[in-house]
Amino acid sequence: MMKNVLIIGSGIAGLSCAVRCAGHGLRVMLISPYPSERAQSVMAAGGINAVTKGHEEGDSIESHIEDTLKGGAMLGGRNAVEGMCRQAEDIIRYLESIGTVFTVDENGKPRTRAFGGQSHKRTHFCGASTGKQIISALVMESRRYEAMGLITRKLGMDFYSGLIRDGVCYGALLFNEGTKTLEPVYADAVILATGGQNSLFGKTTGSILCDGYAAGRLFMQGAVLKNLEFIQYHPTTLETSQKRILISEAVRGEGGRLFYPEGGNRIYFMEDKYGPKGNLMTRDVISREIYATGREVFLDISFLDKKLIDSRLPEVRDLCSKYRSIDITREPIPVSPSVHFFMGGLAVHMNHETNIKGLYAIGECASMYHGANRLGGNSLLAAIYSGNVAADDIAKNECRGGVQDFANYIAHEKKELEKLYDTKSAFPVMYMRDMLAETMKNNLGIVRTEKNLKAGIGDVDEYIGTSTHLHYDASVSAYTNYSLLGIMTLARAVLTCAEHRKESRGAHYRSDFKESADELSHATLISYDDGSFTVNLDKGNAYEN
Ligand SMILES: Cc1cc2nc3c(=O)[nH]c(=O)nc-3n(C[C@H](O)[C@H](O)[C@H](O)COP(=O)(O)OP(=O)(O)OC[C@H]3O[C@@H](n4cnc5c(N)ncnc54)[C@H](O)[C@@H]3O)c2cc1C
Repeated sequence: MMKNVLIIGSGIAGLSCAVRCAGHGLRVMLISPYPSERAQSVMAAGGINAVTKGHEEGDSIESHIEDTLKGGAMLGGRNAVEGMCRQAEDIIRYLESIGTVFTVDENGKPRTRAFGGQSHKRTHFCGASTGKQIISALVMESRRYEAMGLITRKLGMDFYSGLIRDGVCYGALLFNEGTKTLEPVYADAVILATGGQNSLFGKTTGSILCDGYAAGRLFMQGAVLKNLEFIQYHPTTLETSQKRILISEAVRGEGGRLFYPEGGNRIYFMEDKYGPKGNLMTRDVISREIYATGREVFLDISFLDKKLIDSRLPEVRDLCSKYRSIDITREPIPVSPSVHFFMGGLAVHMNHETNIKGLYAIGECASMYHGANRLGGNSLLAAIYSGNVAADDIAKNECRGGVQDFANYIAHEKKELEKLYDTKSAFPVMYMRDMLAETMKNNLGIVRTEKNLKAGIGDVDEYIGTSTHLHYDASVSAYTNYSLLGIMTLARAVLTCAEHRKESRGAHYRSDFKESADELSHATLISYDDGSFTVNLDKGNAYEN
């Protein structure tokens, strides 16, 4: 019997997984609100890591593994990281075989760069648009399978909830934006590929389409979440009215220098403290150092030959020019840290299945490879690798079968949705979302304290308390309205994990517990039961650490 797989989210993780599933002869439904070309994955400019043939002298797959584990403060899953780094070259070859064109030098050898925390140059890139190029190639590949009837893509569909009974997931309830109704989709396996949690923080470097709602809702339905306190602040972003624009690590990879002005001089604070490789320290370290200067900091690449800037950093050049009229070939860029990536997410086993049978999580919404801090270029790799692992696992498993009747549950949720449309109160949904983002930014920054975290928890508890009498906001989508409670619950879980980890490690820095504690060198797991949150360290290694 042919197995059916439902994939939620069509960024690089969801799309590549759909293609892999179809390659195994599985029948896939791939749903998302917008086409893949609008997923956050297309913003990835810097590149994807792999140690490939002709690699930099001294580099090896072992170095890639060690850099990844060390960068993640030893919280990444060792066996999983090994699997990912060993498959990285095959992934690059596969991407080339479907039409992704990586940048090469005049001899046809891959041009690579080093991101922070990497001992060697191993980041492969496609000019300044790696994510876009990979998505384009995968879209083409997906169309082949769509023509064969193996992949069905549905747009205008949002995740609403899982169809879960007795710890088994049988499908998902989706919100159809066109008909404004809930539709059940049953499948042998459900794969969540919904990306990070940007909306918890309002303006970040990432896409507002990644709001964490699906992870939050599944958490409320029994899924365990992991390592939520580890949130990556990218050290070099440029403020604009709409969002924080990422000034790619590629700038520092090409020799860019961080400094602040003092008394007519430039103080190269990273080089002064960490030596010549100071500008290429990991993102957590640089973000904290920028924060510690308490000043306006700049990133300078203007000394590089203009032709090199034009060929290697055209996107950064154009973004700075377009949004802030800065000519990076002549002047430095004012930069500051901003929320950029979420190391935490759904807890998954080595096969990427969650604690709920039949429910998988891949890409940025899952927590596995990056531990307490992600290295640049490892996220695209993890997105594709995790999708491969999940697809291969589903292909070899027995068909689950067993039809379940969810009619009562669906009728109940339809009523809940209608109630939301009818409710009148003083709290419009968008106002609550803005309040939540303020709370998260103020209390869960680069430097955290018990006092801040407890204040944040208090605020979010209050917001959750008001959520039963929220005023439906007709100026935003129905999804934006119904997703609020899941997002707020996720925010509460993130703050709770951060409060629970009384040490500093990777991206989680506590000024009241400045050192790492050996006994806390385990992943954080959090679960939810009817309004209460339970946090534990994964000492028994239930989720491969
Ligand atoms: C500016 C920027 C630059 C980056 N550069 C790099 C880089 O150079 N190298 C690197 O390795 N990483 C980079 N990253 C990180 C990387 O882009 C992401 O981690 C990765 O693309 C995540 O892929 P994904 O498929 O998991 O998620 P996404 O690409 O975010 O896709 C998520 C999908 O889920 C859908 N979705 C979300 N919520 C719902 C819902 N409720 N219902 C239905 N669908 C939903 C979305 O619409 C989308 O289709 C960068 C990130 C940013 C923000």
